[in-house]
Amino acid sequence: IATKFPTMGTTIFTVMSALATERNAVNLGQGFPDFECDPKLTEAVTEAMRKGLNQYPPMTGITPLREAVAAKIEAVYGRRYDPVSEITITAGATQAIITAVLAIVKPGDEVIVLEPCYDSYVPNIELAGGKVVRVPLVPHSFRPDFAKIAAALTPRTRAILINSPHNPSGTVWTREEMLQLQDLLAPTDVFVISDEVYEHMVFDGQPHQSAARFPGLAARSIIVSSFGKTYHVTGWKVGYVAAPAPLSAEFRKVHQFNVFTVNTPMQFGLAAYMASPEPYLQLPAFYQRKRDLFRAGLANSRLKLLPSEGTYFQCVDIAEVSDLSEAEFCKWLTTEIGVAAIPLSAFYGDGFDQRVVRFCFAKKDETLRAALERLAKL
Ligand code: PMP
Ligand code: GLN
Repeated sequence: IATKFPTMGTTIFTVMSALATERNAVNLGQGFPDFECDPKLTEAVTEAMRKGLNQYPPMTGITPLREAVAAKIEAVYGRRYDPVSEITITAGATQAIITAVLAIVKPGDEVIVLEPCYDSYVPNIELAGGKVVRVPLVPHSFRPDFAKIAAALTPRTRAILINSPHNPSGTVWTREEMLQLQDLLAPTDVFVISDEVYEHMVFDGQPHQSAARFPGLAARSIIVSSFGKTYHVTGWKVGYVAAPAPLSAEFRKVHQFNVFTVNTPMQFGLAAYMASPEPYLQLPAFYQRKRDLFRAGLANSRLKLLPSEGTYFQCVDIAEVSDLSEAEFCKWLTTEIGVAAIPLSAFYGDGFDQRVVRFCFAKKDETLRAALERLAKL
């Protein structure tokens, strides 16, 4: 057929997971836990189903879940969002991001993305008819370069997409960096889509600098998060958006027609489970231990460890191990060594290759050990 998307391929996560399965490799590529969620959470969902909570919920999400999300944001970041007009439950962060983009980007609008960036951002902007303006993060350190961001701003800039903690690099924006962004945007009408799906995975005692903490950013931001990451249930595809009422109203105009609403029993289960903050409060220590286990296992290898300040990703420099491109290296590593990884070049529009690949450490200790045993050969 005459395809509408002649250059659009298949997402790298699907490609690498398929190869990992085919080659029986340890899959540290696609980011998802290989362990179970808390049984209390599945019980809460089962309970909701048994109670007959199985029909359409309200378009914006059930009230108890919106209230629980608002209470959590206020407790953690100190900003009050009205659960009625400012919180919307979404079908994961993926739907939240495309809905936000469709809601605010008009054909011809410029939208800034900071590369490397999550692989749905660019196609989302293109689907909305927007013009993608790619600004690189500093290679290897992955810190924002505010001179470059400032230079990319024009009167046609409609929005900027930011993501901290950052996939794929694992960097976490500092308070100073958030303040710099706030100052830079102060004289503009630019919206921010702040992808904070890894908000509860920040290590070494650092706080997560949500856009919600910065009044000048919060006023212009659609903040996106995902229960999939926080509660180890990526397959449930439930997330949320927090945004000031006028922005939420625009968001909901699209949301009602691209998904309408999100499955009911999961929402009730999540609302009940959120009554306790313990699960997300324990998450940094839980993942920091896995990060440290994985890093210790690679400490003597020729894969050079980059910092991992947050998320469940660890990047490594492959230059001492191989001359292959990142993408070829990941294929080779999967087929010959038996460990799947993701090339960072997949997160750049031009395929920029800096000899860095990403591993996911959201895995059972035994899975990590099995991978480390194989990687020790390098
Ligand atoms: N943004 C980022 C940065 C992610 O890593 C992911 C998950 N891979 C998503 C969005 C999508 O989240 P969800 O699974 O909730 O749609
Ligand atoms: N967010 C996950 C990652 O970065 C994967 C999501 C997906 O498979 N689309 O690995």
